[in-house]
Amino acid sequence: MPSEWAFVSVDMEITNVCNVQCRICPRDAITRPGGMMSNETFRVISEKLIREGSLITFSGMGDPLSHPKVFEWIQHIRESGGDVGIVVNPASLNGNAPYALVDARPNSITLSFPSIRKIVFEKLCPQISFDQAIERARELINLCAGNVGIRITGIRTEMNPDENESYLLLWKKLGVPSSMVACHGRGGNLKAPGIYKQRDYGQKTGCCGLIRYHTFITWEGDVLACCHDLSGETIVGNLIESEICEIADRKRKLMRDGVSFKVCMQCDEPLRNVNPPVEGFPPANRNDRKTFFRRMRLKNSTMAK
Ligand code: SF4
Ligand code: SF4
Repeated sequence: MPSEWAFVSVDMEITNVCNVQCRICPRDAITRPGGMMSNETFRVISEKLIREGSLITFSGMGDPLSHPKVFEWIQHIRESGGDVGIVVNPASLNGNAPYALVDARPNSITLSFPSIRKIVFEKLCPQISFDQAIERARELINLCAGNVGIRITGIRTEMNPDENESYLLLWKKLGVPSSMVACHGRGGNLKAPGIYKQRDYGQKTGCCGLIRYHTFITWEGDVLACCHDLSGETIVGNLIESEICEIADRKRKLMRDGVSFKVCMQCDEPLRNVNPPVEGFPPANRNDRKTFFRRMRLKNSTMAK
């Protein structure tokens, strides 16, 4: 298991390309280069992360299912003794994708399903009908049963601030855990009138829980201080060139006085205020890690209600 808190959980953006156009995604504001992770970049950084014992999650400002190597790479991480999760959306779960995904055996799949209210869902995800999305969710849940862990995440917006209870209940009936989090502006990058209004968390970031317990790696192997950085201005280093301990050390120095990047000044990400105290060493095994992040998720889902 990891010796560095910042590398307990690593979000790996295997691509920042995405053909889906969710209303709650500020993809239009990305100014850093777009592309797909190469085999060589994946080989070098996954080797380091597997050795460290990080939980790798394929996610970021793109659709991991659009990467042609996604299933092969999941399989590779598992066969090499690593842990890997993936965040997917219903619009991309077409054709053979759900079967190939479950066959690759990630440790867990997170299905992003913003709302169970048809009108809200279709406003937020205009590229797929609610009925088709529910059908795909059910199919994925059935395929995962007994094979792969799955959980569902929703978003509370101005359109559905009171949805939490019915949301959790529906997925519970289908036998899967779920949670809802408050929509946030991804570092001031999201503009969505009628759906989301920026909350003022002030200028003081304290020591943000996102930067502290997660590391974000772009498709080029760059480590950014935060996944909400759409320009690349918060670069901490490159994991092809540097070792994990060097990057972790730079992150520690950054956090010493509280993070204060430009992107932080407009950030209303609830995790910025979810910051359980670090006591001793990072989680020593998978169960401890699960418990640690379950607590963070719980706290995160109750923030900004
Ligand atoms: S939220 Fe995900 S699936 Fe939706 S547009 Fe953004 S990157 Fe694509
Ligand atoms: S305060 Fe917000 S933008 Fe800054 S590192 Fe934390 S989550 Fe990212």
